[in-house]
Amino acid sequence: MVDPRRLIPRTDAVLAEPRIAAAVERLGRDIVKSAVAAAQERVRCGEVPPDHDAVVEAALDALPAAATGLRPVLNATGVLLHTNLGRAPLSPAARAALDVAAGTCDVELDLHTGARGPRGATLLAALLDAVPTAAAAHVVNNGAAALAMVAAALAPGREVIISRGELVEIGDGFRIPELLTAAGVRLREVGTTNRTSRADYAGAVGEDTALILKVHPSNFVVSGFTQSVGIGELTGLGVPVVADIGSGLLAPHPLLPDEPDAATVLAQGADLVTASGDKLLGGPQAGLLLGAPGVGAELVQRVRRHPLARAVRADKLTLAALEATLRGPLPPVRAALAADPREIRARAERLAAALAAAGVDATAIDSTAAVGGGGAPGVTLPSAAVALPEHYAAALRAGDPPVLGRVEHGRCLLDLRALPADADAALTTAVLACSG
Ligand SMILES: *Cc1c(COP(=O)(O)O)cnc(C)c1O
Repeated sequence: MVDPRRLIPRTDAVLAEPRIAAAVERLGRDIVKSAVAAAQERVRCGEVPPDHDAVVEAALDALPAAATGLRPVLNATGVLLHTNLGRAPLSPAARAALDVAAGTCDVELDLHTGARGPRGATLLAALLDAVPTAAAAHVVNNGAAALAMVAAALAPGREVIISRGELVEIGDGFRIPELLTAAGVRLREVGTTNRTSRADYAGAVGEDTALILKVHPSNFVVSGFTQSVGIGELTGLGVPVVADIGSGLLAPHPLLPDEPDAATVLAQGADLVTASGDKLLGGPQAGLLLGAPGVGAELVQRVRRHPLARAVRADKLTLAALEATLRGPLPPVRAALAADPREIRARAERLAAALAAAGVDATAIDSTAAVGGGGAPGVTLPSAAVALPEHYAAALRAGDPPVLGRVEHGRCLLDLRALPADADAALTTAVLACSG
């Protein structure tokens, strides 16, 4: 009898195949060797015939698209900004900009003079175009870094006045009051959980006050006997007013009338606004600081010049993708937010019909989606989903590509609002692959 090991094409022979060699150039030797080993293992199991071409094909099939352990996931949760799925998916314009920035680029060079230039100047210009009420802008790593810089640069060792109704935990144990004290400020809490008045703020302002901070409760709503103080009422207390709006809306959005936006908050009298880049703005992870003319612009300068600014500096990839998000077409999150529920329902009907025709227990149903990720709490978005038996949830998550749905009332729902329509075919294929 022939030793079966002698029938398995040898690793070096498979690696010498031009398409496999090209993959080594792209992905590195270790990843490709693992794929070849997986293909050889399938020969041992009898799944792949013991010939060279079949093993090459099986190895190519087993290769990841890129040399990263991250996997692309289809977001069928109905949560537009899913923090665990990387929040906002980037627009085609932002992806193209990433390609430019990936090489050497003039991120900090003035090509006219050949001298060092201001970092990310074209992005800052785009931000100021998008927020006409701002006079200065700065970009850091994320929203938390923007807040940490506000504390470290503008209020070290001094008091920051904040309402007890705005001591927010964002998620994964990240608490804004803890971040602020860790960055070296003393919190002066005012008001109560449900009610804070202008007099509470006014009574707390003293010699040691560095600034008043308003934080958007971006993931909860307090209802009932409540009172909070608008930005407009806090100007004139003699200290700068900083507003952390969280979600990164730069201008009012008709579908989210209660969500604060940078342009309006600055027009109402805030000196400085901080926000995230990867929430409703729809861009890469980033933290924005936008200053009003006058004091606000000086505050931005102080943040920019602080020694810690370098520690939270945004990289060239972020700067490029953020600028393209601002200048380019509507990013996917904003398209998903504005999608017509009737069109989502029609997609669900088509998908469910195709799956049912293949023998899958699938029905189209109406559902509700959410903005998520620290934006528009309490807002529900009419949506539609394909409902499957519950056991599909785990099987789809384990698939390739993994699909993340949500389990509701003993069913696995694939909500289509957060999923771009051009992913419907991939979703169908993924469900069919779990239906064997
Ligand atoms: C999300 C959020 C943050 C933190 O921003 P990251 O970009 O996640 O660091 C801070 N404040 C508010 C109000 C937020 O919603």
